[in-house]
Amino acid sequence: FFLVLEGGDGAGKSTQVEAIAEWIRAKGHEVVVTREPGATPIGKRLRSILLDVSSAGLSNRAEALLYAADRAEHVDSVVRPALERGAIVISDRYIDSSVAYQGAGRDLAPTEIARISRWATSGLVPHLTVLLDVDPQTARERFTEAPDRLESEPAEFHDRVRSGFLTLAAADPARYLVVDAGQEAEAITTVVRHRLDRLLP
Ligand code: C5P
Repeated sequence: FFLVLEGGDGAGKSTQVEAIAEWIRAKGHEVVVTREPGATPIGKRLRSILLDVSSAGLSNRAEALLYAADRAEHVDSVVRPALERGAIVISDRYIDSSVAYQGAGRDLAPTEIARISRWATSGLVPHLTVLLDVDPQTARERFTEAPDRLESEPAEFHDRVRSGFLTLAAADPARYLVVDAGQEAEAITTVVRHRLDRLLP
């Protein structure tokens, strides 16, 4: 079972990934928690290129391809092997982040971005994607560390990213759970658990 958490910066994805992983482990499943970008050794190098403020001049298309390269490496070396041995994989971000950030955010065609990622992953689609939806202004107040290259983008960029995610979720309600991420963390976990209860093996 492949579960993905998506959402803008500061939506609380990492907190939810941990809470949900713990709950699934308690049911006796093997859980692999992973993330994009940067879950593999090559991915960590790509992540530093992508997020370092010194990469300010990175072209939009090069950026999209580097995220896709990170994803290809991630799926090949982490996600597929874990799924094949029957583990439940929870990823903090996946293809939708590219469609939302490199597509809607940067103004590249979302369908093309999706196509690159489909190729990069040989078509691996999550069973469920949880979208933690929050107003970017509210999310920004949660930042504790210095902003990375993306977090320094203007508010309009983050608004486009948010709409990008919501458009994806609206197109395929059976495969998405959209949660109001402005709520308390525990309330969010409860909503996600409720949906997973019906889906997990
Ligand atoms: O989720 P995490 O904080 O690790 O993401 C790192 C940064 O990469 C974030 O600022 C996020 O906005 C950005 N990002 C992106 N495109 C992606 C995935 C992440 O711009 N496809």
